[in-house]
Amino acid sequence: MANMSMTKTPIAEQDPKVRARNFKEVTLGYTAEQAVEEAKRCLNCKHRPCMSGCPVSVRIPEFIAQVAEGNFEEAYKIIKDTNALPAVCGRVCPQENQCEGKCVRGIKGEPVGIGRLERFCADYMADKPMNIEKPEPNGHKVAVVGAGPSSLTAAGDLAKLGYDVTVYEAFHTAGGVLMYGIPEFRLPKSIVQHEIDNLTAMGVKIMTNMVIGKVLSIDELIEMGNEAIFIGSGAGLPRFMGIEGEGLVGVYSANEYLTRINLMKAYLEDYDTPIMKSENVAVVGGGNVAMDAARSAMRLGAKKVYVVYRRSMDELPARKEEVHHAQEEGIEFLVLNNPVRIIGDENGRVCAMECVKMELGEPDASGRRRPVEIKGSEFTLEIDTAIMSIGTSPNPLIRSTTPGLSANDHGCLIVDENESTTKEGVYAGGDAVTGAATVILAMGAGKRAAAAIDKYIKSK
Ligand SMILES: Cc1cc2nc3c(=O)[nH]c(=O)nc-3n(C[C@H](O)[C@H](O)[C@H](O)COP(=O)(O)OP(=O)(O)OC[C@H]3O[C@@H](n4cnc5c(N)ncnc54)[C@H](O)[C@@H]3O)c2cc1C
Ligand code: SF4
Repeated sequence: MANMSMTKTPIAEQDPKVRARNFKEVTLGYTAEQAVEEAKRCLNCKHRPCMSGCPVSVRIPEFIAQVAEGNFEEAYKIIKDTNALPAVCGRVCPQENQCEGKCVRGIKGEPVGIGRLERFCADYMADKPMNIEKPEPNGHKVAVVGAGPSSLTAAGDLAKLGYDVTVYEAFHTAGGVLMYGIPEFRLPKSIVQHEIDNLTAMGVKIMTNMVIGKVLSIDELIEMGNEAIFIGSGAGLPRFMGIEGEGLVGVYSANEYLTRINLMKAYLEDYDTPIMKSENVAVVGGGNVAMDAARSAMRLGAKKVYVVYRRSMDELPARKEEVHHAQEEGIEFLVLNNPVRIIGDENGRVCAMECVKMELGEPDASGRRRPVEIKGSEFTLEIDTAIMSIGTSPNPLIRSTTPGLSANDHGCLIVDENESTTKEGVYAGGDAVTGAATVILAMGAGKRAAAAIDKYIKSK
């Protein structure tokens, strides 16, 4: 029988007071009964509006129909057909702007919990033996630069077609932002590793500690017999505001802060990665990265954590669920505020941040109302740590060492609709092309690039 409830089937979560001090996963996932109950809310709409919101075209009503029947393995196979990383996407995709944003059940209530169902299917299959077949080799070799979601998707799709794929990753661990950026409490690293293991089981080779542009150039990869290259090197270069005091001890980029915690395990006692023991922390910015940095600071023992954001709560770009969780965990949102300078003590350590209040003026080029300073409204916030999370751009290393590869003014690689760059046989996608965006958009680009690379090599 259909479930006509107007709201999503609730999902279990760790208590906010407890979880604010540990790094275990916040959301615990559906049980099989809850998943079936939620799946029964789906109306199996003829025109499948939810699918139009999915950048990798998961056949959503089809997989949900299988969940409703209790056929979880079948449901998983349908998702996996077009989405290489369901356990990841079910956890971190901004579903409210994508599939769930288009779901008709959202018109008069809450949309179907598509992300929760996707996660359930992936988690259900996580401990089941997977019959991964190595595809028949087709005799062609492709190199993939970076091991984030765009590269992993491109590598997986190419391996399925029989290509001999080698992934070159700069860090000592594959996974990109999924490993070094998004914290354990939102995306357990064992889940990402499981997806990477599935790829290597398919024959994809992953070489870590390989900084392309230093150890090997793109041209050298071509000379090594790779008939095409995919660049998915992300946008890991942090931006700063350019205000006074950003060089003080106690100022981090969110990128560095989160990498120390996630990749270098600073939150575990048996690791000796240094990280500030902060009491009062200001995180500047309002995206997912800012939420992750703020919630990580709280978990490391801070007493007060502020998110300083220059627009209002309505404009916060972070996923709604993360903002809600951050509020529950005691993060204070100082919206309509902007830092003016960071103040240091006599030892060059951060002791305060001067901010100014803002109001919203006319819409800017992005369509959002422009924040305007309120003159004379400056005030001081006592802090010992400032974490700057105002965006990132692509690292210039690859473009500066690759003749023929063009980038725009923001340093993003220029590609056509097939993700083909200005250099023949070289493709690119994900944050390296779009600037900081989302996991699923990066995966969509990896998929398009793999299809285009296959066509390119076969047409030679
Ligand atoms: C903290 C944080 C939280 C986020 N939260 C979300 C979220 O909740 N939902 C969401 O959808 N998106 C989120 N994002 C954004 C999302 O993670 C990215 O859009 C996505 O990971 C981009 O994928 P990518 O494959 O293009 O690049 P990346 O994931 O950045 O991977 C690029 C890889 O290339 C490697 N690399 C770089 N240069 C070289 C080189 N020269 N040689 C070899 N390897 C190189 C890097 O080490 C890295 O491993 C978040 C981002 C951050 C930082
Ligand atoms: S739009 Fe919503 S109700 Fe309709 S098929 Fe998609 S998930 Fe089901």
